[in-house]
Amino acid sequence: MSLSLIGKSISASATLKLNETAAILKAKGEPIIHLGGGEPKSKAPLDAIISAVQLLNSGEVRYTPVDGIPALKQAIIRYTEEFYGRKVSPQHVIASGGAKQAIMVAMQAIVNPQEEVVYPAPYWLSYPEMVKLCGGVPVPVFAEDGSFYPKLRDIEQVVTSYTKMVIINSPNNPTGAMYSEEFIAEIVEFCEKRGIWLLMDDIYHRLIFDGKKPISCYQYAKDLSENSKLIVVNGASKQYAMTGFRIGWAVASKQLVSVMANIQGHQTSGPSAVTQYAAVGALNGLQSSVESLRLTLENNRNIMVDRLKAFEGVRVTKPDGAFYCFADFSHYNKSSAKLANFLLEKVRVATVPGIEFGLDGYLRLSTCGSVKEITEGIERIKWALDPNSPNELYIGQRKLVRDWL
Ligand code: PMP
Repeated sequence: MSLSLIGKSISASATLKLNETAAILKAKGEPIIHLGGGEPKSKAPLDAIISAVQLLNSGEVRYTPVDGIPALKQAIIRYTEEFYGRKVSPQHVIASGGAKQAIMVAMQAIVNPQEEVVYPAPYWLSYPEMVKLCGGVPVPVFAEDGSFYPKLRDIEQVVTSYTKMVIINSPNNPTGAMYSEEFIAEIVEFCEKRGIWLLMDDIYHRLIFDGKKPISCYQYAKDLSENSKLIVVNGASKQYAMTGFRIGWAVASKQLVSVMANIQGHQTSGPSAVTQYAAVGALNGLQSSVESLRLTLENNRNIMVDRLKAFEGVRVTKPDGAFYCFADFSHYNKSSAKLANFLLEKVRVATVPGIEFGLDGYLRLSTCGSVKEITEGIERIKWALDPNSPNELYIGQRKLVRDWL
């Protein structure tokens, strides 16, 4: 079939595919434990629901301005002031269909074919595909010291005259690593000096642990004029457990925002009116659900890390935030895709193979589930892989007998 070169080069989102497979198995009554998901299990804030329902009750659900309704822009402006100490105007803000679309339209507004986009690895699996959609060249870069914490030196080494943009995602999906203030300061300064666009994907910035505080990249920027090439992306999905609402946003220079709005206008028009109202409710309403989610995630992280540390053959780095543990299972199987399939097939535990994030031999395990799901999930994985565990395992009434070790 004569499909486009770009179209054919894009792979399906592994996490979305995994969600589908797990949902199908669950619907068939299989006792699935889903450690693959990237979304909180808590409910959306009541203020979000009330606000959306108000609009629905009016029966007048119309097109909105392409870059977002004024009330949402105001809420984002207030949010930016509170968490970034920066006062911006409505022309600096664009609301999109999820942080995903905000990143995509930013890239489409910036990246020419053949130009390079640099980001630390392991990375969120959509970055390379988004770059390819622009005809650009994805340039993932691993930290030389083998850690999940890149140094400026690592980035510098891959930056060329073709580099148009750097993406920093902290805390990081899939590793949960939150980069140091020093690193953020250095990368902001470096990109400013070299005239490179810097996109901060801050989608997890409030979901951080061990007393850490969100970092504002603006405090390290020397040039905050309209020439600034700094873009901050955020959204409602993760912090407010509103993944299905599809509201994210970007804060950037007026010129960039207006080009992003032009692109978005032909792509999807403005985001759904109903969910924009919901996001206004979430942003302006009670914030206790965010803290409660953060605390749950921190507790779940502690439990998961403890269990994984007691798992001989697995190496784990303690995440600083977000909802993932990215653990090294290469002792059991160098192919993370094979291992993830094996675990789903044998013990009905869904995980995401590290290869999808650029690092094979690792599995991404989500801490979004209940404590029971986390402990039982890891117990099942251990049973499947560890030759010292007993030969039989009960999943509910079902007795599993291990015949593969
Ligand atoms: N950036 C990162 C790092 C993410 O993990 C995700 C969601 N998986 C997004 C952006 C997109 O979020 P949204 O649901 O708002 O599109």
